[in-house]
Amino acid sequence: MTLFVPGLIRRKRDGGTLAEAEIRELMAAYTAGSVPDYQMAAMLMAIFFRGLSDEELPWWTDAMIRSGVVLDHRAVPGAKVDKHSTGGVGDKISLPLAPAVAALGVAVPMVSGRGLGHTGGTLDKLEAIPGFRVDLPLSRAARILGELGLFMIGQTDEMVPADRMLYALRDVTGTVESIPLIASSIMSKKIAEGIDALVLDVKVGAGAFMGDLERARLLARTLIGIGRGAGLEVRALITAMDRPIGRAVGNALEVREAVDVLRGGGPPDTVELTRELGAEMAVLGGAAADLDEGRREISRVLADGSALERFGRMIEAQDGDRLICDEPGRLPAAREVALVAAPREGLVRGVDPLAVARAALEVGAGRRVKEDRVDPATGVLLCVSAGERVVTGQPLAELHHQGTGFEAALALLEQAIVIGDEPPPAAPLIIDRIHGRASGRPADRTD
Ligand code: URA
Repeated sequence: MTLFVPGLIRRKRDGGTLAEAEIRELMAAYTAGSVPDYQMAAMLMAIFFRGLSDEELPWWTDAMIRSGVVLDHRAVPGAKVDKHSTGGVGDKISLPLAPAVAALGVAVPMVSGRGLGHTGGTLDKLEAIPGFRVDLPLSRAARILGELGLFMIGQTDEMVPADRMLYALRDVTGTVESIPLIASSIMSKKIAEGIDALVLDVKVGAGAFMGDLERARLLARTLIGIGRGAGLEVRALITAMDRPIGRAVGNALEVREAVDVLRGGGPPDTVELTRELGAEMAVLGGAAADLDEGRREISRVLADGSALERFGRMIEAQDGDRLICDEPGRLPAAREVALVAAPREGLVRGVDPLAVARAALEVGAGRRVKEDRVDPATGVLLCVSAGERVVTGQPLAELHHQGTGFEAALALLEQAIVIGDEPPPAAPLIIDRIHGRASGRPADRTD
């Protein structure tokens, strides 16, 4: 076939569909450099407005996957299961979750991303552990998976190069917020991990990519549809991101909190998310007959130290300082800690996740552009959560900083924690659970 790209763009622009061979050839030519960015940008904008049909979306995703290598873990017995979160504030759940699930005998080959904008990334959190390497050669990662039942690494250059190219283009052409483009981007990377099953944590609320529940559900169903089409078992939880997860936002602070969870403690919401996502992974991995048994098993490995032991061994295998599990003082610490005090007495009505994330960003805990370096030591430690009664002058949050950006960060934190007279409305953390088959034609439209 001779590819005539303007014709494909026009057809998509006018609401037509692309054939499988056309999609595959377009993706192959784009990643080989023979289709220029301006033509692919026009195609992405056409997809933004017209969507991809139920037939086109799996072809598009598969064509992305075929641009690189697909990991093969068949040498490791049993089901390989991973979790993906669409991104939130204070979302350190992968850190206690992966070792807890591995401690149940389910292999977790976790390939994670970095934080961008207001959302944090698992790789940045792991790199707060002195020496920890996320850039292991795939052969070494495979060995660690065989020995320990888990690894936590970053995407290599060989995995889904099409996504790196397309994401960079979407970022500068106003085409990020398209459900089929987001779903194919996420699922191409997950399917390339060589997993059998996936649990999705689709966040909804002010601190999430998806601000409203209907779009979050649509994204979840679209992700599930792509995964199932590729032969994976996929389930999704829709969870609240109208508040930060846990009390820590910032890389070393979040590692400390994750270790607290692995020691059987930690904030209740962080434990609940770990337990709920872990129970789903345990069921998919065959380590539990149902969710109740999965929850009990996750609680057991968090309480008896076996999940912490697995985490420590993984840190060591990936060249990190495993002593941080017993001596969190070995983690990087900021030079200064400033306190935000309650301006009045009352009840904490809520904590704005975006304002907390921006405060953490001001002191260097996150990235504005992907070339930024993060400071692992800085961030925010909340001292209160929604519903708590406070008195005037009581500490609401600690700001861990290095002497720059703290004035702006403190101003943001003062606004982030809202105190009133009425208790906040009850707001569940787990909003929905999608186990059923994807229905309808969810990927057709982006609006
Ligand atoms: N995360 C991804 O990996 N890709 C997107 O397009 C959006 C979020």
